[in-house]
Amino acid sequence: MSLAKKALEQGKGILKLAPTWVPRSFCVPGRRIKLHPDDYYVLGGKRGGIDERWLSSTTPAQNGPLTGKNEGLSAVVYNEGGKDEQFLLKDAIDELKGEIIGDRLWDEHQSWPMYSKFFDNMGPLPHHIHHNDEHAAKIGQKGKPEAYYFPPQLNNHGGDFPYTFFGIAPGTTKEQIRECLVNFTKGDNKLTTYSQAFKLEPGTGWDVPPGMLHAPGSLCTYEPQKASDVFAMYQSLVNEAIIPEELLWNGTPKDRIGDFDQLMEVIDWDLNVNPNILETRFMVPKPVKPLKEMEAEGYIENWICYRSAAFSAKELTVLPGQTVTIKDSACYGMIVMQGHGKFGVWDIETPALIRYGQLTDDEFFVSEKAAREGVHISNPSKSDPIVILKHFGPENPDLIL
Ligand SMILES: [Zn+2]
Repeated sequence: MSLAKKALEQGKGILKLAPTWVPRSFCVPGRRIKLHPDDYYVLGGKRGGIDERWLSSTTPAQNGPLTGKNEGLSAVVYNEGGKDEQFLLKDAIDELKGEIIGDRLWDEHQSWPMYSKFFDNMGPLPHHIHHNDEHAAKIGQKGKPEAYYFPPQLNNHGGDFPYTFFGIAPGTTKEQIRECLVNFTKGDNKLTTYSQAFKLEPGTGWDVPPGMLHAPGSLCTYEPQKASDVFAMYQSLVNEAIIPEELLWNGTPKDRIGDFDQLMEVIDWDLNVNPNILETRFMVPKPVKPLKEMEAEGYIENWICYRSAAFSAKELTVLPGQTVTIKDSACYGMIVMQGHGKFGVWDIETPALIRYGQLTDDEFFVSEKAAREGVHISNPSKSDPIVILKHFGPENPDLIL
């Protein structure tokens, strides 16, 4: 029997994953993702600090020529005779297909088409954009919608700039934005002069469709997204650091580099100047069922990311002393944010501090079959809730709001 089959059997349809850490050479870590203080620069100064943990990922990190083997890819942990063996989640899904992600997703995508991550930056990121499917196809990629949720457990401080710029201020002209792009190499192109920022609040989130300009703020962010790495930076100076020009043209087909009209085409203008951005893109958690009904059964579950067809996410809280069975219609990845207990056959817990390379018991992938049958979760604590974030693939059948 293959390792993947054995692992699926061992976990009764639930795979245990190892933590996947990713550095970014252009970012300063916010130090809120539980990595040991000595390990944020464990890959060496050239690679930069570790400011991301990728979750349920079958998508390799595009991190330049120094990118490590399997960087960004989640590994499954299988234990035989007290010894842990690891293999890639991607290989397990390629082998077992619908047995893990369900035939609905496998038949349509032949892959697990999303992943989630924590990103944890001390400062703000540049105003940037992700291409839609049509523009991304020109460079052989897929378009990229993404969404944010700010877990209270990882946000005791908001970093240097807990505000996010979204879109373009209504009334701005296309000529004004084009001029900023033309000025990219002249120092500060002042793009955010024409944008509005919103204060970020832990326990809420935002939806970011392709074609929408956005400059993520410095909260520690849980970010489900489509499996793609297409982007272009449209702001040339952020936090007193210059953004290299190559990142402006990242995502532009070779024959159109230098063509500012192409950069303008990537902007979904109506989406960006929509005066109701707060109404249409902000996400307050929504209960999946009537609150009273859930509380009576010992849990609370909320949709936290629910505006994209490409993925969705839930936050599940199992109250102290309670045992519940939670059913979902689709497979999902999950990360434990708080508490400890049992999740199916697995012991789950939330480590306070993780060494680079150390295994944890806080991240799992639940196959469609196991999700449909229902996962038994018990919380033995007298005081501490179990809190779990769950990330789902495209068109979650349960997502009807
Ligand atoms: Zn983005």
